[in-house]
Amino acid sequence: MTRKPNPAIQILAAAPRGSGLPAQRRGDGSAVFEERKRRIGENEAIFRDVNRKVRRLDPNWMTILCECGDAACRDQLVIDPDEYARTREDSTLFILRPGHEAAETERVVSKHLEFWIVQKRPGLPAEIARATDSHAG
Ligand SMILES: [Zn+2]
Repeated sequence: MTRKPNPAIQILAAAPRGSGLPAQRRGDGSAVFEERKRRIGENEAIFRDVNRKVRRLDPNWMTILCECGDAACRDQLVIDPDEYARTREDSTLFILRPGHEAAETERVVSKHLEFWIVQKRPGLPAEIARATDSHAG
């Protein structure tokens, strides 16, 4: 078997940063705190888009990139495609490695061996998650 570069990493390298995000300011926190929340949400949205483009090589499982708010994180995780599809139906849900959640912007709603599913908290985090979800109806 020939060794091919990971398509997810290739897409990630070409992913635009900071595009299409809501710029409005809300009165429920300091500007610094909101900037951090915005950055976490923006990063998670990028990884969500990357994962959508990952080609499925095996019908029974898929390998995706951790969708946590850490821009430096390149962890991968294996998920059941059906579970992935169900999670993607809600714009405010993200899939990440256990322990990678950012408590101030999201809460863990489901724990699995390889990954946790988190939901963005109401307010700015959820708004960013929805605004950046190009597939939301
Ligand atoms: Zn991570």
